Amino acid sequence: MEIREWRRLAIQSIAFFVVVFVSGLGFSQRIQQQLEIGVHAEDYKESRSQKTVFPQEKKEAPTVATKALVEERSDTYIKIPKEAIASPAKVYLQNRYMDFQVIVTFQGVARGGIDSGDILRVRGYHVSSGRISKKDPAFRKIEVVDQRERDLQKNSVQLRFTLKKAYEPILFESDEAYYISLLAARKAHEKIVVVDAGHGGMDEGTSSANRKYQEKDVVLDVQEKLSRLLEKTDMTVYYTRTKDEEVSKKDRTRLANGLQADLFVSIHCNALRGGSNTFGVETLYAGKAPRYGKLENKELADVILNQVVASTDMKKRGTIKRNDLYLLRHSKVPTAIVEIGYMTNQDDMSLMKKEIGQQKIAEGIYRGIMNAMK
Ligand SMILES: [Zn+2]
Repeated sequence: MEIREWRRLAIQSIAFFVVVFVSGLGFSQRIQQQLEIGVHAEDYKESRSQKTVFPQEKKEAPTVATKALVEERSDTYIKIPKEAIASPAKVYLQNRYMDFQVIVTFQGVARGGIDSGDILRVRGYHVSSGRISKKDPAFRKIEVVDQRERDLQKNSVQLRFTLKKAYEPILFESDEAYYISLLAARKAHEKIVVVDAGHGGMDEGTSSANRKYQEKDVVLDVQEKLSRLLEKTDMTVYYTRTKDEEVSKKDRTRLANGLQADLFVSIHCNALRGGSNTFGVETLYAGKAPRYGKLENKELADVILNQVVASTDMKKRGTIKRNDLYLLRHSKVPTAIVEIGYMTNQDDMSLMKKEIGQQKIAEGIYRGIMNAMK
């Protein structure tokens, strides 16, 4: 217990130092890299595969379009006339969907370079700017944030839009204006899957018998392999976390529900202290019928269990009804938790820590999802 407390303190002080150090630059990616050096055991870090670029980290450049096309594609959109901004060096959009936030950065624009009065909200024939009414169907908040850098050329102005619903944003530009088109995610995509790597950050989940391996890392590694399989399909996949960070169960569930996802799969590991002979795969589901989607929870739990077992040759423990778990209780879409193995069992752990084992588990989950989406 004491050692854990020490470690927690150490991590917190590293985090604090790093935050203070790079806050002037304001990039969380840097913080993440610094933190990982302190957190992971050396041998395990080496075995970790190369990071995939996940949608949340992507910087989307504007696509050229006419105003008519923007209107056709949007439930609502933002228009910023180009004459209102001194020509930016670079413009890009980031979709922070976990926070229901869309961020557009105008790089090379000086402080105060964008007036909030020039940010026009358009819905049909209705155009507004300035204060947002509480009844606004799309926008909760719009912030204009000046980002100062040491190199003045890199000064930028960020527009941060906090939304009330899950939208799929696209940044467009025409000769006259920049447009941020917002279309309800459920309309924008035919197939939506939410993948959830359990735990993260200070919440480490469970661990191996010798406490060398932590659940939060194993499930993230499996997710990375799963993501590479899923990116080759026609499904749109959202991840509740893509790095070692803490995400609340509420936010995880909110994403799946907000998207009205076709299915929601949460990846976890089991453990039984003093029960090293307990091993195998199980999936968990809630007994209630999902509000959205075409699948029963039990069907999803069954198909994922069967496919993971087939892919890994691990022991099939079965599907278990759990109406008490937050994620299962609050999800309104077809949902299953897959417990990929027991970290306290040597054979399960040895499979889960190796690249090849993680790949097999990922393939099993992938086939389960593919079957469920048929
Ligand atoms: Zn867990």
